Amino acid sequence: MSTPFRIGNGYDVHRLADGLELWLCGVRVAHSKGAVAHSDGDVAIHALCDALLGAANLRDIGYHFPDVNAEYKGIDSKILLKRTMSMVREKGYELGNADIVLCLQRPKVKDLIPDMQQCLANVMQTSPDSISIKATTTETLGFVGREEGVAAYAVSLLVKM
Ligand code: MG
Repeated sequence: MSTPFRIGNGYDVHRLADGLELWLCGVRVAHSKGAVAHSDGDVAIHALCDALLGAANLRDIGYHFPDVNAEYKGIDSKILLKRTMSMVREKGYELGNADIVLCLQRPKVKDLIPDMQQCLANVMQTSPDSISIKATTTETLGFVGREEGVAAYAVSLLVKM
């Protein structure tokens, strides 16, 4: 890999169910529903990990952290992100920037975004300025709009060190 810059993208979805915890970008979001998942179900971190792995051509999150493995049952996705960044750095790349889109109908998360940026920056050992987070509804359309699930998209740019 001699390219000085590499991009990657990631996407993830989890079903929502009553009474579970909702975690997005490493932050607990107060809500009546949460993600059904083998891990903590943080779709944003999962999409971000896939964007980073894609940029480094290191397969995907399910390849490295299989959801049939008991080690990852209920795991804090921040641990997966930390391990992903280690793999990226081992391959000689550093994060340029990442951009994340959260797709959920409720609740509004805009006031949590600075905390989310800081949380991801701490885990990734980078600056919050390198991590953009946006949120959108889907205007009540589709599975996100019906609040059956939550989705996230992420892109990342890696820079050769
Ligand atoms: Mg996932």
